[in-house]
Amino acid sequence: MSHNLFATFAERMRERGDADFITTHGGRGYSHREALAASARLAGALTVLGVTPGDRVAVQVDKSPEAILLYLACLRIGGVYLPLNTGYTGEEIRYFLTDAEPALFVCRPANAGEARTIAADTGCPTVESLGTASDGSLMEAAACAEPRDDIVARGEHDLAAILYTSGTTGRSKGAMLTHRNLGSNAATLVEAWHFGADDRLIHALPIFHTHGLFVACNVTLMAGSSMLFLPKFDADVIFEELPRGTVMMGVPTFYTRLVADDRLTPEVTANMRLFVSGSAPLTAETHQAFEAKTGHAILERYGMTETNMNLSNPYDGERRAGTVGMPLPGVEYRITDRDTHAPLPRGEIGMLEIRGPNVFAGYWRMPEKTREELLEDGFFVTGDLAMVDEHGYVHIVGRDKDLVISGGYNVYPKEVEQVIDELDGVHESAVIGLPHPDFGEGVTAVVVPEGDAHLDEVRVLDHLQGRLAKYKQPKRVFFVDSLPRNTMGKVQKNQLRQQFEDTYR
Ligand code: ATP
Ligand code: MG
Repeated sequence: MSHNLFATFAERMRERGDADFITTHGGRGYSHREALAASARLAGALTVLGVTPGDRVAVQVDKSPEAILLYLACLRIGGVYLPLNTGYTGEEIRYFLTDAEPALFVCRPANAGEARTIAADTGCPTVESLGTASDGSLMEAAACAEPRDDIVARGEHDLAAILYTSGTTGRSKGAMLTHRNLGSNAATLVEAWHFGADDRLIHALPIFHTHGLFVACNVTLMAGSSMLFLPKFDADVIFEELPRGTVMMGVPTFYTRLVADDRLTPEVTANMRLFVSGSAPLTAETHQAFEAKTGHAILERYGMTETNMNLSNPYDGERRAGTVGMPLPGVEYRITDRDTHAPLPRGEIGMLEIRGPNVFAGYWRMPEKTREELLEDGFFVTGDLAMVDEHGYVHIVGRDKDLVISGGYNVYPKEVEQVIDELDGVHESAVIGLPHPDFGEGVTAVVVPEGDAHLDEVRVLDHLQGRLAKYKQPKRVFFVDSLPRNTMGKVQKNQLRQQFEDTYR
């Protein structure tokens, strides 16, 4: 029996026929039937270009419906889809092509020249381009290719994709994801979030990341729903489209921007049934403000490149602000001692570990890293610190690598940030550990003031007196205009640590 994920998608697409599958704000798009046919032509083109089962297809293109058809074509012929962040420079692409050894690199039309040079240097045999207006050499190849209507048989442990992690804590790692990993998670999410054929997803996320690609697109495909494909988050367009949508998936920055906008009302969101947030922590404050303005409680969930989605607030039942909910069906978790992996009692903070059919097959060409993080009993060490409250909801406390150890005491940045954020005039903050001659690490706060609020170091430190134990209080407070964030809204604490590294030296 074949386990090719595309077979399930194709069945749904045949059933849905002329119903919309994917449309742009400008109205361009494909019905399910058209998408199936177009992806068959792209599959034909990939075959002519020499892609065989198991070959990687590296893709760095701007968001378009055709990029998703390429993903489908790749699955169909048993290829391994390998999307790359559109922000990567030529030098970074050189690293990824060297690491992944793809049989084909699909780039933006404007980058074709540079892409050819890099491909030649790194031994990648073929380069094609794909633009956002159904243009590019790949689409030309597809127009003359013989469509491939067959679906290549795949085993459940065969790779469907290699997705590089965001590189928040170090160099990006290629997570090897199987047909079973992606298929099981999509099916679970369709159930958990009640996706159906009538849903219309407002899709404003990038498609080189697990959130916008696998969560959003696989769920849409698995449920036979449709999606509105937007190149990026643009509040004007979102407000125009909300009355026609039923679900939106976003990163927390989408929601903070919507909350700050007067157009956010119960009326404009009346047709929507679900708002999902993930990829970075959503503050309880944003969650509450969004509910107050719309009547919708945002559903926050937790996942990562290596595992797709693991934990989710309930669809029915209380969605607790500041938590990521409970394990999805089929997913197990445990919270363990950081060093021994021994499970800890409920309520204690420890390493979050995950096991289930969604957990990846390992890091591409990094056997040692894989051994460190994928334990023999099947649990994956997420690198996130968490605790479970008395209601069974999981709280993500922060990343293990961001934990500050000052004078031998553990300081959890989120706890300190939450107290700083309560101070009037603070917009947001990030707490980091910096090398310190006496304490090992010195707790340090980086604060973004609200508007033109007048804040100084003494005000912030005074506010913390009596609210936090002495060892948790920052030794220094710095002010910045904004925190460095990546496209998924993740705060780049590495950059802050670098910027202030000499503070105590
Ligand atoms: P790298 O692994 O390369 O350092 P990364 O971990 O940021 O980068 P991703 O796989 O894109 O790469 O992100 C997964 C991480 O995002 C999780 O480990 C977690 O730290 C964070 N995350 C995702 N969802 C949430 C959430 N709802 N709340 C808090 N953190 C979240
Ligand atoms: Mg990670």
